[in-house]
Amino acid sequence: MNELKRLSDAEILKRTEELVLKEKEFSFLILKHLAEIDRRRVYADLGYASLYDYCFRYLKYSEYEAYGRISALKLMRGSTNIETKIKTNQISLTNLIQVAKFIGQEEKEKKVRLSIMDKEALVDELKGKSTREVRHILHEKAATPKTLYHIKIHEPTLHKFRQYQSEVGHYGEEDVLNFLLDEKLYFHDGGEKLSSGSRYLPQKMKYLIYQRAKGQCEYQLPDGKRCHEHRRLQFDHIQPYALGGKTSVDNIRLYCRAHNQRAAIKTYGQKKIQTFLN
Ligand SMILES: [Zn+2]
Repeated sequence: MNELKRLSDAEILKRTEELVLKEKEFSFLILKHLAEIDRRRVYADLGYASLYDYCFRYLKYSEYEAYGRISALKLMRGSTNIETKIKTNQISLTNLIQVAKFIGQEEKEKKVRLSIMDKEALVDELKGKSTREVRHILHEKAATPKTLYHIKIHEPTLHKFRQYQSEVGHYGEEDVLNFLLDEKLYFHDGGEKLSSGSRYLPQKMKYLIYQRAKGQCEYQLPDGKRCHEHRRLQFDHIQPYALGGKTSVDNIRLYCRAHNQRAAIKTYGQKKIQTFLN
């Protein structure tokens, strides 16, 4: 692994890209082999009652991995169109597993079988999308019902809630609750205490930056593509605070952990930052 440390940034990126391509090729090949094993029921000779059993017990896939591969395989078996999309990386195995799960749930709930054409249309709609986008689209399609949730709260708590609601701009109750929860669950300030003088970001400033970023890492590639991360976001001084950067909306960006750390490495060097990583 020492050899890896000597690679340049460009080399490590290129090599990883090549390996990922190979990984995808292998995933596809494994699916094809599993399909053939299933067709011949070869697993029966080894004492297993199903392909799932063989994948889980013999090949030591986790339940999720075994289930996912078999679902993907079933989708693929029914349609050469879908098979081509997997083979040519238009849809990833992870996304296909999501689709297969979705189809399974839909068929169970609505008690109808989706036609091959419907399945192909669904996969077609999702090709080239990220895992997060696919999750979002399927979630929308599944049309989750709202749940009525009653809570009894004391007057002062309600007062605080209303105060906060007006502070963030009179959003609906669910939005306000979501905002509070997002902040608790996904916002971190690089583990620093928020008490150190002018480094402190007022609530309002956080809110404005969060709105500008639309709750997503603000890192942008030269071609305009944004980083997709929306969890564990951190507020990062563009011109570092230690180097005289101001704590202002313009000088603070919302970055994910990785982009924040990468920026720190670029500013301060790998050596200095290493002890703070992981
Ligand atoms: Zn990012």
